[in-house]
Amino acid sequence: MKPSAPVTTADLAPVVGKVAAAERLSAEDGLALYDDVDIHTLGELANGVRERLHGRRAYFIVNRHINYSNYCVLRCKFCAFYRRYPTKKTTDGGDVSASLPLAGATGGLPTSVRAGATGGVSISARQDDAYALSVEEMVDRAKQAYEAGATEVHIVGGLHPKLPFSYYTQLCSAIRESCPKIHIKAFTAIEIIHFTRICKPRMSIREVLTALMQAGLDSMPGGGAEIFDDRVHDEAYKNKVGEVEWFEVHRTAHELGLPTNATMLYGHVETKAERIAHMIKLREHQDESIRSRPARFNCFIPLSFIPDDSALSDLPGPTGLDDLRTLAISRLMLDNFAHIKAFWIMQTPKLAQVSLNWGVDDIDGTVVYYDITKREGAGGRHQELTVEKLQRLICEADCIPIERDSLYRQVIRDRENSSGGTVWYSRPWGTEDNCQRSPRPGVPDRATRRPRCGHRP
Ligand code: SF4
Repeated sequence: MKPSAPVTTADLAPVVGKVAAAERLSAEDGLALYDDVDIHTLGELANGVRERLHGRRAYFIVNRHINYSNYCVLRCKFCAFYRRYPTKKTTDGGDVSASLPLAGATGGLPTSVRAGATGGVSISARQDDAYALSVEEMVDRAKQAYEAGATEVHIVGGLHPKLPFSYYTQLCSAIRESCPKIHIKAFTAIEIIHFTRICKPRMSIREVLTALMQAGLDSMPGGGAEIFDDRVHDEAYKNKVGEVEWFEVHRTAHELGLPTNATMLYGHVETKAERIAHMIKLREHQDESIRSRPARFNCFIPLSFIPDDSALSDLPGPTGLDDLRTLAISRLMLDNFAHIKAFWIMQTPKLAQVSLNWGVDDIDGTVVYYDITKREGAGGRHQELTVEKLQRLICEADCIPIERDSLYRQVIRDRENSSGGTVWYSRPWGTEDNCQRSPRPGVPDRATRRPRCGHRP
């Protein structure tokens, strides 16, 4: 087979024309963008679309991630987060994990479960940090976040083999009661499928989502999508439900009026063509939701694979240029997604900052604690960007920092309030934004490093 010639800027002329005319790109167009060596042309194209949609605005959120447990019944190869639930073997080799009590369990729900407190069960070194948080501990963390000014809690965890569905509904209702205004974004599609299976009798996806919404769930994150492809599924996460179930959960959520996000985990065993196919499947789903459902995907989040401590640790993972190219191509391919997010935990704060001129309009938030990924194995659980740091990253990228809520409405904080600045409200778009009056909005003053647009950290 003859090697394909490198794609030149001239080869991109039809794609450039389509982007200028706001026409939809095909799979072939997407692949041409991946093969192009000129990262700057790609950046200009993606930035043009980004500016058409958002001007120089760049969004961030004051949020808190809370992971309720890292015990999981699955072993996805790319995952460094899961821990095995403790089991002990009977003399005949049978597994009696089902008979192990949850430490401190009261009223059917655990107060907390930690490795090392499991009554003589042998656990490997990697199990030493296994945990499951009680509803009370989760509520305490949500309250701390709320009191510190967070507008959102982002809650996900492993597929715990013992927690009953009532744990998850009680979790939502207890947080809702303690933090009435906070937005509860929780549970990936994979967790929702798990909940349908642990209920006795089994519940449907619709019944599970309805129960969670009645308990206080406001939206869902987009995790668990990985790459929508059977080959990749079989190679990297064979035992996890695939795209059919993932889309079924999100379709049902959108039918129920529950907004969700969408992700793509890239840089492991997939090809560029499989990434493009993944984006096109999401685009088609979004078309349907926009046409006929009360909710849709809020944003797309390409997640850069971090190999460390996973069963795929021999892979190199994506480079910075691959990250930048994937974010930019996402902006160009997903013409019906309002927002493209660089999750700084995965792409690093510095690359997330650069990507604000490569199609990205959102760099997520303060996060504070994150157990699922520790970049390059060096980080601990505490992974935080303060509001000041987020604003500086955005301003130095020549953008206007806008604090948003989970639904991308601008958050206005009452800084005069005696409660110390935790009072806030969401303002719908269409009202005047003072930033737009600045001649070069968002550019930080070199002396003070403060944005000229009037935002103050
Ligand atoms: S990716 Fe999720 S489902 Fe898979 S092993 Fe990790 S925690 Fe479990």
